[in-house]
Amino acid sequence: MNCFRIAPILLLTAATALAQAPAAQKPAQPAFVPSFDAAAIDKTADPCTDFYQYACGNWVKSNPIPADQTRWGRSFSLVGERNRYLLWQELDSAATNPKSALEKQYGDYFAACMDTNLIEQKGLKPLDPAFQRIATLKDAHQLSALASDLEAEGSSMPLFNFGVEQDAKDSSKQIAGVFQGGLSLPDRDYYLVDNKHYAEIRQQYLAHVTKMFTLAGDTPEQAGREAAAVLEIETALAKASTPRVDLRDPQNIYHIYTVADFQKLTPEFDYSLYFKAVKVRPFDTLNVATPGFFKGLNELIAKEPVAAWQSYLRWHTLHGAAVNLPKAFFDENFAFFGQTLAGQKEPTPRWKQCTRMTDNALGEAVGQDWVKVNFPPAAKASMDQLVAALEKSLGDDIKTLPWMSDATKKAAEEKLSLIRNKIGYPEKWRDYSALKVQREDLIGNLERSAVFERNWDLDHLGKPVDEKEWGMTPPTVNAYYDPSMNDINFPAGILQPPFFDFKIDPAVNFGGIGVVIGHEMTHGFDDEGSQFDGHGNLREWQTPADRKAFTARTDCVADEYSSFEAAAAKGDAPAQKLNGRLTLGENTADNGGLRIAYMALLDTLAAEGKSISDQIGGYTEAQRYFIGFAQVWCQNQTEQSARESALVDPHSPGRWRVNGSVRNFDQFGKTFGCAQGKPMFPANACRVW
Ligand SMILES: [Zn+2]
Repeated sequence: MNCFRIAPILLLTAATALAQAPAAQKPAQPAFVPSFDAAAIDKTADPCTDFYQYACGNWVKSNPIPADQTRWGRSFSLVGERNRYLLWQELDSAATNPKSALEKQYGDYFAACMDTNLIEQKGLKPLDPAFQRIATLKDAHQLSALASDLEAEGSSMPLFNFGVEQDAKDSSKQIAGVFQGGLSLPDRDYYLVDNKHYAEIRQQYLAHVTKMFTLAGDTPEQAGREAAAVLEIETALAKASTPRVDLRDPQNIYHIYTVADFQKLTPEFDYSLYFKAVKVRPFDTLNVATPGFFKGLNELIAKEPVAAWQSYLRWHTLHGAAVNLPKAFFDENFAFFGQTLAGQKEPTPRWKQCTRMTDNALGEAVGQDWVKVNFPPAAKASMDQLVAALEKSLGDDIKTLPWMSDATKKAAEEKLSLIRNKIGYPEKWRDYSALKVQREDLIGNLERSAVFERNWDLDHLGKPVDEKEWGMTPPTVNAYYDPSMNDINFPAGILQPPFFDFKIDPAVNFGGIGVVIGHEMTHGFDDEGSQFDGHGNLREWQTPADRKAFTARTDCVADEYSSFEAAAAKGDAPAQKLNGRLTLGENTADNGGLRIAYMALLDTLAAEGKSISDQIGGYTEAQRYFIGFAQVWCQNQTEQSARESALVDPHSPGRWRVNGSVRNFDQFGKTFGCAQGKPMFPANACRVW
């Protein structure tokens, strides 16, 4: 699953660790997070005015962001920390006392990452082969040969992304595809927005790139020139890039070219040479997801001097490896990408970073042992039942939609019936035996792993689709819907308290994992997912009138969320609103998930002879459902990170995932006795599903 196919739609966007400290902070086991936490509730707040403040207020006040984080959520972060700790135990034990060949492999991978003394000793030597190749570039026409060499070696090749994807219009086929790339900052807007705030960030970025080059041994004058070249190239690539919102429309990223026509579009870069070097099977056509980017890259290759390209590639080599280089480099990297850009106070502890890196490289090796301990078969059976309950209620919901014609309802029900569920972990594990791991060669391991992943991905070309493959590792605290596969996926990592707990009343469980399941199912019917049919093909199945009614409803959601504030004005930085178009799919899924999980709860309670108004611990079942849901999203986030998320994250922040969803669902206002017209019970609520 590479990074640019019709992207699987995640439940949340995980924060990336930006740097780490060499210090040997000792890990400690985090406690379980309760599914329903009365102590988190701020009873001074009015649930009808600001339900997020009511359900999460005390938690938010008493749980400041830890120094090594930029975003701290009650559920995702705490379960993530717990899963990482349990994984670390496994890795630490495999690194000291491996009991199988597989343990030896991932134990060595982890140990190589943890050996910061060796990282210091080696200095920049592991990057020498890449630097030497870059130094040999004589004219821009050799750029394709150089990029091919770097890519073939597993070094950083930043110019664009190449891989295999399902054909959006014929999901049974796996085809080649190219996608834009080339930037270091989080989004094209960082290069292009013309205000004081972003101008200052660009100045700080320039200073950071300069500093990294001087650390690598260049004179300050040289380094300044090189940094200017990097910013110039990246700015031009940013201009040529398709904006994030436009990438969400699958029609915008589907452009089938013959290899010959693609080459005619971009004569300055020899793609045939590149495809040969990365050893992909020959092919005649490919998806050029973002043709404008490749035209822009072509013009840039013709225009920029060789020295500028050398600076750009050297920068990406340094930047790509920065967290695994000597302390001076990762401190500088952290100062800009961690502190300045994201507001992180302290680097991520090394053990956390190495655990994450090992999970990234060998996730289905590490995960095999992890699920044995952390995911009992009974949990899988319980999930099957829950998913079936949610499927039924989404089916009931479709049947009763007032705005949809019978023909479209039938097509929607057919699509729903074709959604496949994947729960816990893969039936068949990946084979990592071809990945060579050396205990004393961290950068080499990373490069070999990059080559191994690329070969694995490219090997899919022309083969039948394997429905059993996963795009997430078992300990991951997340979930996704894949439009081309038409499947919903729940790794074992999220199937734990506070999301999933069968010792607690069904209301809280449906508010937790029930809404998550409903969210993923609704993705099949959001503004993006609804463009694919039940077989994962980009094909209209709504009548024109129904599509028009659908779009009017999604427009309502987009406008509503665009009015929500992500960050208040501060200094040179203006107030930042959410982008209702960027977050439309996620908001639609949140709204649908909350509604259909509630319907499934009603069915479940009725079957058990219980009622939604039964009381437990001073709250009705309905109240516990909404509070349990809201408490999944309690969070604190640095201002910098909130601003970044507003530009790049298709998910709304916790406050709006909660308040946006409940204000569009009339059962909420009724449950809490809100007067119509209160912020959480508005007269003009939006509804898609
Ligand atoms: Zn989602």
